[in-house]
Amino acid sequence: MIHFADYNFAGKKAIVRVDFNVPLNKETLDITDDTRIRASIPTINKIIDDGGSVILMSHLGRPKNGPEDKFSLKHILPSLSKLLNKDVDFSEDCIGTAAEEKANRLVSGSVLLLENLRFYKHETAGSDVFAKQLANLADVYVNDAFGTAHRAHASTTIIAQYFPNVKMYGYLIEKEIESVSKVLHESVSPVTAIVGGAKVSSKIIIINELLEKVDNLIIGGGMTYTFVKAMVGNVGTSLVENDYLETAKEIIAKAKEKKVQLILPKDTVAADSFANAANKMTCESISIPDNWMGLDIGPKAIVAYVTCIENSKTVLWNGPMGVFEMENFREGTKQVALAIANATKNGAFSLIGGGDSVAAINLFNLADQVSHVSTGGGAMLEYLEGKELPGIKAITE
Ligand code: AMP
Repeated sequence: MIHFADYNFAGKKAIVRVDFNVPLNKETLDITDDTRIRASIPTINKIIDDGGSVILMSHLGRPKNGPEDKFSLKHILPSLSKLLNKDVDFSEDCIGTAAEEKANRLVSGSVLLLENLRFYKHETAGSDVFAKQLANLADVYVNDAFGTAHRAHASTTIIAQYFPNVKMYGYLIEKEIESVSKVLHESVSPVTAIVGGAKVSSKIIIINELLEKVDNLIIGGGMTYTFVKAMVGNVGTSLVENDYLETAKEIIAKAKEKKVQLILPKDTVAADSFANAANKMTCESISIPDNWMGLDIGPKAIVAYVTCIENSKTVLWNGPMGVFEMENFREGTKQVALAIANATKNGAFSLIGGGDSVAAINLFNLADQVSHVSTGGGAMLEYLEGKELPGIKAITE
């Protein structure tokens, strides 16, 4: 396999699958969070600095039936040009004569952005013909879109076959892969995983995988109460998945067998309705009164979690500790985020992997105080679960 850093792009046209699926303001169509564009810049700059040229392709949103202005990648151009500090050309079609002519005109150091790949349904269908049309534009294929690496789409997977000897990942995917490896395969003990979020059902595979690898498994968020109920506690009206009570018991037993310290919140901040303005009180997690629901971990749990995290050398975090979107039920998630930043300061490796914990770390402005914040929600979860991602396999096989 070719390593991106070792490859000399001088005189080459590289087609790079990036993830420019950024949130846009619904009215002005301005970018509200450019994290994903920023994350692609080192890869683009390396190709330019070598003397190559770059053809960027991405999807944006979920267009249903062909082109729609609100999903056009032209809205990305000003931000991209600014971050690269150079003009970027744009092709209003990602394939066909328009794209071919613009690609042919590329000179060393220039950058071309193609229109939204998902204006063609062939992209998500994984069409061979569509992938070949994209492939014909370039000499080299680089995949740097970790967020879509779990999809076997034309631009993320199928296209790789047309570059048997010149396909590679960019810096971003490399960093995502390295980060997971540091947590799951080359971790320094004590290793602590913090799994939160709404439901046990959506995290069961990752929990089982983690029980094989970690010293401590901290549980928080809505899934807590399925565990508590499984241990015959009173959970009031907290979120519970009754179909998963047996699963929760099995997880508790497996943790014991594997000598993993499974830590549940001793106390809970409960509310009398699912609202920021609800009345709240702190109680033991095993004795939540009827008609009250657990929406955050309590102060005793915070102390225990912070201590465990700050004593760890490897930390993985997936899923919030409570309903952090509501200011009054945010404290547990905030203190966990701060503890991860502290552990990192003291030399731990920390990975914020996926979905809402990424939103949380950004909310608390701590993204630059942890080792790696993943750009791929579903992709990161699947990768941590030990699944083979098609976009990665297409490069390595
Ligand atoms: P997930 O996508 O599974 O990581 O779940 C994230 C969601 O879980 C967030 O929207 C949180 O508001 C929600 N959540 C966290 N804790 C609780 C809780 N105690 N009760 C209900 N929802 C929760």
